[in-house]
Amino acid sequence: MITDVFCKILNKELPADIVAEDDNWLAINDINPQAPVHVLIMPKKHLTDVCAATQDDAKLLGELLMAANKIAKKLGLEEKGFRLIINHGEHGGQLVPHLHIHLLGGKRLGPKIIAESK
Ligand SMILES: [Zn+2]
Repeated sequence: MITDVFCKILNKELPADIVAEDDNWLAINDINPQAPVHVLIMPKKHLTDVCAATQDDAKLLGELLMAANKIAKKLGLEEKGFRLIINHGEHGGQLVPHLHIHLLGGKRLGPKIIAESK
C-alpha cells in the first residue's frame, strides 16, 4: 500500500489547499512556499518520480505540463514569467516520493532557486 503524503491528500485522508483539479491531476499550494506563488501539480496516478513513468504515461506527463500552462495563466503569471521544477531523488531534493511539478512565480526568481544543501 502506498502511503506518501500526496496519495493521502488524493485519498482525502489529509487536507490540502487545492488550486485546481482535473480528471488525472491535482494542484495544491505548497505548505512551505519558496515564492509568492508555489503550486504543486501531481498526477492522481501514483508515480514515484519521473523515472518511474513509462511510455504508457506519456499522455499523463503531457497533461501535467498542460495543467501548469492553465494554472500559470489562471494566476496571471504568463506575462511576467514563472518557473517549473521537477526534483528527482536525493540529489534532486525530492521530498515526497510522488511525482510533482513545482510551479513558482510571483517575483523575479534568482538563478538558483534552491541553495545547495550542506
Ligand atoms: Zn503517491
